[in-house]
Amino acid sequence: MITGKNKDIGITIIMEKKFCIQCGLQLQKKAIDGRERFFCSKCSWIFYKNPLPVAVAICYNEEGQLLIIQRGIEPNKGKWSLPGGFLEQGETPEQGCLRELYEETGVSGHIRSNIGTGYSQSELYGSIIFLYYSVMAKDINIVISNEVMQAEFVHRTDIKRIHSDMHKKFISIFYDTELKGRE
Ligand SMILES: [Zn+2]
Repeated sequence: MITGKNKDIGITIIMEKKFCIQCGLQLQKKAIDGRERFFCSKCSWIFYKNPLPVAVAICYNEEGQLLIIQRGIEPNKGKWSLPGGFLEQGETPEQGCLRELYEETGVSGHIRSNIGTGYSQSELYGSIIFLYYSVMAKDINIVISNEVMQAEFVHRTDIKRIHSDMHKKFISIFYDTELKGRE
């Protein structure tokens, strides 16, 4: 993970386009709509650096236990989290949520509802929008990917293992709405 002094360089490499995707000319920085953006002086193409969407699965089984994962890769390697990941082009957030859930844990399920939307700022990726979905698991046979160290269904008391306060907030909303009265 990129930190400290190299942070700005890292973000520049990963997030900013150096050349126009239409004509190949080197982009210039220009103030447009109140922000400094990369701009092509030849064809007027503007590189808008928008937030990245991430779909997150709050996946539960018939006993009301939640599926949590221990991350096997950075950022936050070794910490407990929820299954999820960046959306791909051409897929809906719901499809991306179920795809990431299946890729990371081998668990498949049905989307039940949209629990809410979160926001955070990442050193590596810039602004990220988190889309939380509740997912009723239908095949609970866990087969983890190499990006995950462990995955397990746990009771609500074990949710405290999760490192992200934002994840925990939306899990609480999930319990207070969708799983009201059962934990
Ligand atoms: Zn151009």
